Amino acid sequence: MRNLKKIFIHAAMVALFTAPGLAFSADEVVVYSARNEQLIKPLFDAYTKETGTQIKFITDKESALLERLKAEGNRTPADMLITVDAGNLWLAAHEGVLAKTKSKTLEANVPAHLRDPDGYWFGLSVRARTIVYNTNKVKPAELSTYEDLADPKWKGRLCLRTSKKVYNQSLVAMMIARLGEQKTEEIVRGWVANLATDVFPDDTKEMEAIAAGQCDVGVVNTYYYGRLMKKKPELPLALFWPNQQAQGVHVNVSGAGITKHAKHRAAAVKLLEWMSSEKAQNLFADENMEYPANPTMKPHATVAAWGTFKQDTINVAEAGKRQAEAVKLMDRAGYK
Ligand code: FE
Repeated sequence: MRNLKKIFIHAAMVALFTAPGLAFSADEVVVYSARNEQLIKPLFDAYTKETGTQIKFITDKESALLERLKAEGNRTPADMLITVDAGNLWLAAHEGVLAKTKSKTLEANVPAHLRDPDGYWFGLSVRARTIVYNTNKVKPAELSTYEDLADPKWKGRLCLRTSKKVYNQSLVAMMIARLGEQKTEEIVRGWVANLATDVFPDDTKEMEAIAAGQCDVGVVNTYYYGRLMKKKPELPLALFWPNQQAQGVHVNVSGAGITKHAKHRAAAVKLLEWMSSEKAQNLFADENMEYPANPTMKPHATVAAWGTFKQDTINVAEAGKRQAEAVKLMDRAGYK
């Protein structure tokens, strides 16, 4: 009986050590991702093919993943969190679910303003939140800055997405960092006074309203413009790069950090470094029509065709630090 048991254990061990992806390929990384499967799967497949490292992942909304990481604590299987917007990355670090990563590779590949100064997270792709306008109703020469959209000349001509969306919270947070609270509040009040209609639940609906002539101008993330124009190239919409004489266009990132309780920390850091590298940057950015964070890589031709612009180089972490302040300010200003 005793021998039989031994044999069973041995058989189990042999099975364990010969099963592919287990003992012989000890490297495995578990990822929680707020970027959807269609965007990350090709990237992970390429990595597994190159290195043999298996990647397990789940995708969910950013807030659900953060709650899950907090609830799981040190029992979490997650080694890496991928999420969108520096506001969300900052929050994850602030809530204590991420660990610092010190990596010369990441520091070389990701410009300083697109990563956390303390190394808790790193931007991997860039999206610009810029001005979009109806080409039948607005000449680009009439446009200049985000601030100018508060000018009475835009009364009844502006469309905006809801202030509940983190993208707008980050935009306003960065304005507070640059202009101070009082000036920013004046501008946001001006935007609200210029609104043609109620705020929109998403950037696409906002652009459709602009294209339909319900309003003339708005503010959106570049990849939503890319997606819409791919489907309906006939729409009379174009992007404008504001604040080019000043600090530049507001940019934000999608990015990743290593979790505090990672079980495969070294393997996860390697994966993160690879994601910032030349090999992976276009795989990460192009499918979503974003810009690679690594400046040595060029964006996809569709994205490049929107033109070049100067980007704001204030550290995107400011978006997180000032998020609560931005939310309160928008509330005071009546921006719904
Ligand atoms: Fe988005």
